Amino acid sequence: MDDFRYASYAQEVIFSAGALTRLGEAPDRFGWNRLLLCTNRSRRANGQVDSLKSVLGDQLVEIFDRVQPHVQDIQVDEVLALAIEQNADAVIGMGGGSSIGMAKAVSYALSAAFPSNQPFIPVIAIPSTYAGSEMTAVYGITQAGETPPRKVTVRDAKIAPKLVIYDPLLTLDLPPGLTASTGINALAHCMEALYSRTRNPPSGAAAIRGIRHIGNALWRCYQDGNNVEARSEMLTGAHLAGLSLASVTMGLHHGLCHVLGGTANVPHGIANSIILPHAIRFNADVTAPQLVPAAEALGVSRKGISPIVAMEALAQKIFELVGEMNLPQRLRDAGAGLRESDLPALAQLAFQNGTVQNNPKPITQPAQIETLLRNAW
Ligand code: NAD
Repeated sequence: MDDFRYASYAQEVIFSAGALTRLGEAPDRFGWNRLLLCTNRSRRANGQVDSLKSVLGDQLVEIFDRVQPHVQDIQVDEVLALAIEQNADAVIGMGGGSSIGMAKAVSYALSAAFPSNQPFIPVIAIPSTYAGSEMTAVYGITQAGETPPRKVTVRDAKIAPKLVIYDPLLTLDLPPGLTASTGINALAHCMEALYSRTRNPPSGAAAIRGIRHIGNALWRCYQDGNNVEARSEMLTGAHLAGLSLASVTMGLHHGLCHVLGGTANVPHGIANSIILPHAIRFNADVTAPQLVPAAEALGVSRKGISPIVAMEALAQKIFELVGEMNLPQRLRDAGAGLRESDLPALAQLAFQNGTVQNNPKPITQPAQIETLLRNAW
């Protein structure tokens, strides 16, 4: 058995269809009476902001509904000013990973200004995609003023959401493309958790169980977004993926997706969908023992094939699933104005990225990453 060490966080997690109404318990149970909401327009357009308002009444003191992808530093300053002005005592992130990341960024900024061993204002997370940020004490923030813009990661136990509300009904309107791409993001969390340098027994158990649920449910959610049973199973898979991610460091795949998102503005789920098969292939000679159970959980038959061949079958299976769900399979089709001539600079940036350098297979030169990016082009 390997030695292990990890941190876990005190979080209350509520999972049920209709769970949004349970937020009404928060003021009494936690003593939060002045809540600020970070979300974006899609949540207002589909009535979820109104539902939340009717649950919280006057206790919802401010709504910021313009969160942009990849948490832009300029917007954090804006929301921070609102939190101070309104004397907010908790911050809600409702939506995808960007809205939840914004809530964490505001909580972090206030905790940094008023240090204590408790968050200055705690985070409540209500996810409506499968990105998994709700379970972690990490967020990425994009420093928009840098040339090129750069996404950096902040980790602090105090920003782990104290209350997480999973309501599968909030995901029924998630369009097929976002269902697919954020679902592959969840799958990627499980894969990188399994081979993480800091892997531990609970994160591995959550990852394998997460892969099974995602394998069962993602395609069904893609085909019929209104299937509440499939949506519930997929959100359960995303929860386990987030849990597996929460206590480990990620590797090449996630670090590279952050560079593609922060610098080249590739949507996070799309970056994950394109890169994951290539990251699995790149790491195969080192990580096959950890990923063989993942391949089996996704239905790759092990009969008569070596672990390395099973890795190729796993990468191919994910590549095909990405194509069947009409997501781009190649970086040239990522739709972010990326040019092939950008790849060397992106490889250089990725080489300096701390998450990339935590990869289980050592990365000793940018050329290794450039080759991967060219394979994905
Ligand atoms: P996102 O939050 O940027 O949202 C993408 C789009 O989905 C937005 O336009 C949003 O309006 C829309 N959307 C969200 N829910 C919807 C719904 N139910 N129906 C219709 N539209 C909906 O994207 P994301 O993929 O959820 O999150 C990506 C971000 O989260 C990245 O910045 C990534 O780095 C971060 N992230 C962080 C962690 C972590 O542990 N900190 C984990 C995963 C992702």
